[in-house]
Amino acid sequence: MPEGHVIHRLTGRLLAEFGSYPLKVLSPQGRFADSAQLLDGQSLTGSASWGKHIFLKFGDVPDELALWLHVHLGLYGKWRFYPLDAFGDPPPVRGEIRLRLVGKDQVADLSGPTRCAVVTFAEVHQVLRRLGPDPLVNQPADRERFITLVKSRKRAIGELIMDQSVVAGPGNIYRAECLFRVGISPFRKGANVAQRRIGLLWDDLRAGLLDGLATGLISTMLPQDLLPEDPADIEAQRFYVYHRTGRPCVRCGTEIAEQLMQNRRLFWCPNCQR
Ligand SMILES: [Zn+2]
Repeated sequence: MPEGHVIHRLTGRLLAEFGSYPLKVLSPQGRFADSAQLLDGQSLTGSASWGKHIFLKFGDVPDELALWLHVHLGLYGKWRFYPLDAFGDPPPVRGEIRLRLVGKDQVADLSGPTRCAVVTFAEVHQVLRRLGPDPLVNQPADRERFITLVKSRKRAIGELIMDQSVVAGPGNIYRAECLFRVGISPFRKGANVAQRRIGLLWDDLRAGLLDGLATGLISTMLPQDLLPEDPADIEAQRFYVYHRTGRPCVRCGTEIAEQLMQNRRLFWCPNCQR
């Protein structure tokens, strides 16, 4: 599943490349046909993303009066982009396309989403209320809210980072890497992590996601930690612990450990992370 930075990039791309002119909106597969008809011929005039949720605003009207397209890709969903052909026609449909946006010079095809629905502004806010703060949005009280949410839970911090009601956006790679960078054991219960360290974790998740947003790539290794003898090993240059099971920790030499946590592979340094 893509992590939050990918969703924010997609949202930005959709608005930048399909925004501000009437779109043709179709559901080649048919499952979204009625809703597509509501949006067809309207302009995409705004967007927002929060964690792994995309919201696209249709219509040149105030937010409260607009129709909003809510998309969550889930595990299998994907947006694909194709140019129009020399005659200005969209390419043939490939696979089960729930939603197709036809723009001036390209199409965006959405397949396999967990959610694809037209909702009201009030319904957008209902979704947002269920989600924890998003480090990429980082509203003024969000850092404090994250600290409070983590402190109130007895579950392991490694589980809490993956819980979208605690923090929206990070996935499995940022979980492993940011916990390492801040030095927190993934098994420490949220309630038992010092407030100061939870704050540092928020800052680090934000820094990691911002970097991913800028580059489109997750690369959490800081330049001062790069091992000169590893120039050809791409993952060794990008990650501290992710996919580095059994190899020496960059900082202390201890073997990086791996086990399943809630069915996702978890990687950590048993010495550096306490
Ligand atoms: Zn270590």
